Amino acid sequence: MRFLRTLIAEAEQMLFAPAKTCYLCERPLRPPVLPWPSLIDEVLMSFCPTCLRRIPWVVPPFCERCGRPVAGDEALCPICHSGAETLKGRSLAVYDGVIKRLLDDVSVKGVRELADPLGYLIGVVAEELVRDWGSFVIVPVPLHSERLVERGFNQADLLAASAARVLRRPVWGDVLERKKATSPQNRLSVSERRINMAGAFAVTRPDRVANGRFLLIDDVHTTGATLSEAAAALMRAGAAEVRFVTVGVAVALKDMLDLPGSGQEENGEKHRKGSGK
Ligand SMILES: [Zn+2]
Ligand SMILES: [Zn+2]
Repeated sequence: MRFLRTLIAEAEQMLFAPAKTCYLCERPLRPPVLPWPSLIDEVLMSFCPTCLRRIPWVVPPFCERCGRPVAGDEALCPICHSGAETLKGRSLAVYDGVIKRLLDDVSVKGVRELADPLGYLIGVVAEELVRDWGSFVIVPVPLHSERLVERGFNQADLLAASAARVLRRPVWGDVLERKKATSPQNRLSVSERRINMAGAFAVTRPDRVANGRFLLIDDVHTTGATLSEAAAALMRAGAAEVRFVTVGVAVALKDMLDLPGSGQEENGEKHRKGSGK
């Protein structure tokens, strides 16, 4: 009886709630079939099916290591072949088009609620990535404290909180600390970015990190300099393994391989600048 009453209350609430519209095209969305909220509703009540199809999803085949799309049956992408990437991870979509707009809206315009559906989706992507892990901890890539005060939130924290509901693992938002307010990385080559990021992170409680497995979460994977440095700090403190999952991944190869003049990468860094990376 109590269940039935709850059900009716939920249904009524939905019936009289203001109609939701697609965040991207503003067309009205069809309410979920089930009267109680489920996690997938985060996505279905944010974007219409047409706009979901416009997202440049990363689908197989992708690089076994960094998760960038690859041609044919290549196991590793050219960047991983060159040794420029060492960390294993996956991304939801190519950092372009709709995904670029959504991530800019979160980090630059401060549309925090968008982190819920995006975090849900990277949680689903991460489930596959960490299938061979037993227990692990989610670690959002931190912002420098000055940047955090300036913006009022860290988009990686929001994404991690949402992904954690899918992964059902704890989030340690304070285990890593960003010690260095790094200079904007646009115009820097891969090697310069690594120097720029060197020593940027520190582990606050090394005793908690030893032998643990950690899933780093961030909004964008550009050259991997930030993610690698965050992982290196955890590994120095004795972590057993670190992997990452991000919403967007930059795929322009020219700039990655230290060749000048790649538009995509510059745009990527424009965003990174905006998001304080
Ligand atoms: Zn739409
Ligand atoms: Zn790769």
